[in-house]
Amino acid sequence: MTDEAPGPALDGYAEVAIPVPLRRAFTYAIPDALLEHIKPGSRVAVPFHRRKVAGIVVSTKPTPPEGIRVKKIAGVIERDPLFPEELLRFLEAAAGYYFHPIGEVLKSAAPALPTGALRRLRKDGFLDDGETLKGQTVGTKLALFAKRTDLASEGLRLGASQRSILALLEAREEVGLDELREHAKSPRGKLARLAELGLVSLTEREVRRDPFFSRTVEPQGPLEPTGAQQVAIDAMIAELGSRAAFLLHGVTGSGKTEVYLQVIAEAHRRGLGSLLLVPEIALTPQLVGRFRARFGDGIAVLHSALSPRERDDAWRGLRSGELRFAVGARSALFAPIDKLGVIVVDEEHDPSFKQEEGFRYHARDMALLRAHRANALCILGSATPSLESYALQRRGRATLLSMPERATKRSLPKVEIVDLRRHVRGPTGHRFVSGPLHHALRDGLEEKQQAILFLNRRGFVPSRRCESCGELLSCPACSVTLTEHRRASQLRCHYCDYRCDVPSACPACGADGLKELGLGTEQLEDHLNGAFPDARIARLDRDTARGRGIEDVLHRFREGEIDVLVGTQMVTKGHDVKAVTTVGVVSADQSLAFPDFRAEERTFQLLAQVAGRAGRGEREGRVFFQTFQPDHRAVRCAARHDYQAFVEQELEARRDLLYPPFAHLVAVRVDSGSEPHGRRVIGDLARVARAALGEREGSVLGPVVAPIARLRGRYRFRMMLRAPQRAVVREVAAAVIARIEEGVGNARASIDVDPVSML
Ligand code: ADP
Ligand code: ZN
Repeated sequence: MTDEAPGPALDGYAEVAIPVPLRRAFTYAIPDALLEHIKPGSRVAVPFHRRKVAGIVVSTKPTPPEGIRVKKIAGVIERDPLFPEELLRFLEAAAGYYFHPIGEVLKSAAPALPTGALRRLRKDGFLDDGETLKGQTVGTKLALFAKRTDLASEGLRLGASQRSILALLEAREEVGLDELREHAKSPRGKLARLAELGLVSLTEREVRRDPFFSRTVEPQGPLEPTGAQQVAIDAMIAELGSRAAFLLHGVTGSGKTEVYLQVIAEAHRRGLGSLLLVPEIALTPQLVGRFRARFGDGIAVLHSALSPRERDDAWRGLRSGELRFAVGARSALFAPIDKLGVIVVDEEHDPSFKQEEGFRYHARDMALLRAHRANALCILGSATPSLESYALQRRGRATLLSMPERATKRSLPKVEIVDLRRHVRGPTGHRFVSGPLHHALRDGLEEKQQAILFLNRRGFVPSRRCESCGELLSCPACSVTLTEHRRASQLRCHYCDYRCDVPSACPACGADGLKELGLGTEQLEDHLNGAFPDARIARLDRDTARGRGIEDVLHRFREGEIDVLVGTQMVTKGHDVKAVTTVGVVSADQSLAFPDFRAEERTFQLLAQVAGRAGRGEREGRVFFQTFQPDHRAVRCAARHDYQAFVEQELEARRDLLYPPFAHLVAVRVDSGSEPHGRRVIGDLARVARAALGEREGSVLGPVVAPIARLRGRYRFRMMLRAPQRAVVREVAAAVIARIEEGVGNARASIDVDPVSML
C-alpha cells in the first residue's frame, strides 16, 4: 500500500487478550485517535474491573458483539504492534494446544511493560515518552581494553603477574579488563604501568553489560565439514524455505554445532533469521562463544539475567530484523524473529525444555509447531534423542540424519561398569569412590589431565534417620527429607527452601545418633580434597553456581585451572573440554529410582551424555559407571554407546505399557490445604473424566496421592488421562477444565498436556 492510496476503512473494535485465568479475549472499542496504531499484536491499556491493565490485541473487527456495552481502549503502549503476525498466531495456537488462557500466554511471551507505563499514559492515549524510564539500567558500560604493542620487553624489570598479562596479550588481539581480573589481582594498576612503559596500548569503549559479551572472542570461519556433517548440512540447506523437520542424531563430539552454524549461516545469506534453543543458557557460554566467533555480536542472547532494558533492546532488534540470530533457553522460543528460517533445538532430549509452572509448554514440541507454521526448518539435535523425536522420525514426520563418529577422529571413550555390590572400597575407604575410579583419577592427575565426577545430589548428606525410632528428618511443610548442607550448617528442603539448624538429637524421640543416609556433592568434594590434597577440585551445582558463578567455574575448567569438577547434572551437558579424560558417574542408580515411566530413558541419556565429555582431545577417555544394578538395560546400553539397542527395547516397553509415544497423556493435578477437600475435588474430576471418556479407547489413571504427597503445606493429588488418539484425550481434558472453571473451592487444579514431571 502506498501513502496516497485511500486505506480500507479501519476496524473500530478490538479483541484484547488480558492476563486473567480465562480462556477468552474481551471486546473493546478503539478511539478514533488510535485507529491507525491499533492492529493485531499491539499492546494496549484497557479498563478491566475498575483497574487499568495491559493486554494484547488479537484481532480487530468492524462491529461489536450484539447486546453488550463495550468500553474504550485507554491507550497504546508501543506505537507499532509488539508481536509480529507470525508470532501472535503461533502463540494463539500454543495457548489452544495447552488449554492455557491466551492473555497469560501473551503476557509471558512479551517483554516487561515499561516502568509505570499505565500511569504514564497521556489523555490522547499515547505513552509519555519524554520521561526517562526509571529503575532500568542501560545495557552497556564503559570498559577498558589492552593490546600488545610491538615494543619488546627484554631487559625491563617486570613482576611475574605483569609478565603473565603480557603473555596473555601475546596470543590474543585484545583482552578486556574484566577478563584480566581472572588472571591477575588488581590488573588495572599493572596495565597502567605496562602502558607507561609503552608495552601495551589501552582503549576504552562501550560494551554490552551482558556477561555473555564480556569476553572478546576471536572471529572464526567455518570448519571443513566431515563427510557426515556435509551430508547433514546439504540435506538441511536443500530444504531451507520449507517446513521440513530433521532429527540430527550425532554422537557426543560428532560436531553437531558446526552443522547448526553452517545451516544458520546459509539461512542468513538468504535473508532468513534463526533461533537456537539450548537447555540452560548459563551452562552454554561455550556455545554462545562459538556463535559470536562465527556471526559477530549481532546476536541476541536471551537469558534470565537480562535487565528489562536489555530484554527490550533484544526484542526490538529481532523484531526489526537488525538482529538476525537469537540464542536462549526455552522461553527464547517466543523471540520475535523476523523472517524466521531455522529453529534449532540443541540437546532436544533435555527435560528442561519443559516449563513446569504457569504456562506449561514443551519448547521442543512448540519449536516444531512454530517452524511448521512459519515455513522454517526445525532441527532437533541430540546424541540421545528422546523417544518422542525418534518416533516422529519413524513415522516419517522428520528426516533422520546420523553422525555416528566423532568429528575429531577420536573414538568414544571406554566405559567400565563398577559393580558397587561387590567391589572393594578404594584406597580412601569411601564406598562411593571405588578402586578403579580412584586409580583413574590419580593417574589422570599425574598426567595433568582433567576429570568430571557426576553425582545428582547436592548438599552434604541427602537425609538422616534416627537409629532408635527410625524417624527420617523431614520438612515440616513437604513430605520430603531434609538435606544437610554442612558448609552452611543447615538442613534444607530442596523443594520449599525451608531451613533449620542441624539437631543434635532426634526431634521425635530425643535419642542421639542420627544416621547419615547417602552422599551429596559437598561431601564428595571434601572427600576428594582429602584423598588428593594437591588437586584443584571445584564443585558445580545450584549451591555454588549462582549468577556468574557457573560461567566462572566453567571458564576456569576450560582453561585447565581446575583438575576435577564435581557436580550435579550441570556437569553432564555439552561441555567440550579437550583435557578431560576421566569421567565418573558416582551412582548410576539414582535416576533409575524415580517414579516415572521415563526414568530409564532419562538414566540412559544422563549416562551417555556425561560419558561423552571424556576423551575429546588427543587422549582416549575412560569412564566409570558405579552402580548397584550393573545389568540394567539403561546402564549396559549407555556403556556400549548403543543408542539403537536402547531405544528399540524401550519403545517395545512403552508400547506394551501404553505410554508415549504410543499414547497421549494429560496430567490433572490438584492441591489443597485441606487433605479431605483435595481428595474430594480430584475424585469429582475423575468422575467427570470417566463420563467424558465413555466407552472410547483410553483410560483415566488414578486418582492417586502424588509421589510428593505434601508440598509447601498443601496436599497433592493427581490423575492421568491417557488415550491412543490425541483428540480423545483432549476432549476428556476439556470436560475436566469446564468442571474446574465452575470452581474448586480453596483447591488449585491444573492441567498439564504431554507432562514430563511425574511428581
Ligand atoms: P557435539 O555437539 O556433537 O557433541 P561439538 O559440536 O561440540 O560436538 O564438536 C566436538 C568437537 O569437534 C569440537 O571441539 C569441534 O570444534 C570439533 N569439530 C567439529 N566439527 C569439526 C570439523 N569439521 N573439523 C574439525 N573439528 C571439528
Ligand atoms: Zn519443604
